[in-house]
Amino acid sequence: MDCLFCKIINGEIPSSKVYEDDKVIAFNDINPVAPYHILVVPKKHYDSIADISEKEMEIVAHIHNIINKIAIDKGFSDAGFRIINNCGSDGGQEVKHLHYHVLAGKKLPNYEANQK
Ligand code: AMP
Ligand code: ZN
Repeated sequence: MDCLFCKIINGEIPSSKVYEDDKVIAFNDINPVAPYHILVVPKKHYDSIADISEKEMEIVAHIHNIINKIAIDKGFSDAGFRIINNCGSDGGQEVKHLHYHVLAGKKLPNYEANQK
């Protein structure tokens, strides 16, 4: 499949890796919008969160657990962070492989104010 994040996962395209286990990979976003901008991605290809069945939903809990670990490891857990998941066309998802953005390292702008 011609998928950018599958290519990062299989090593075809390089990435700046932050974390890896048998189920997920985390790497720095190539176009960061905050001092920390990390993408956490399941190794199995799902188009988006809408592609995950109820039975498979434990991968999402695993991703959140890894985000907590990364936050502690990088030292931004106490100051706080933002998790973003864009889903589908209206949600602004550009890469059609499920991923969670983790933003941290500065006071982030009020999210709702930007959406009006
Ligand atoms: P989204 O709009 O939620 O699909 O987010 C896709 C994200 O992938 C964007 O923030 C891009 O900057 C990021 N991105 C695109 N190509 C790469 C790459 N080769 N390595 C790391 N991040 C990337
Ligand atoms: Zn993929």
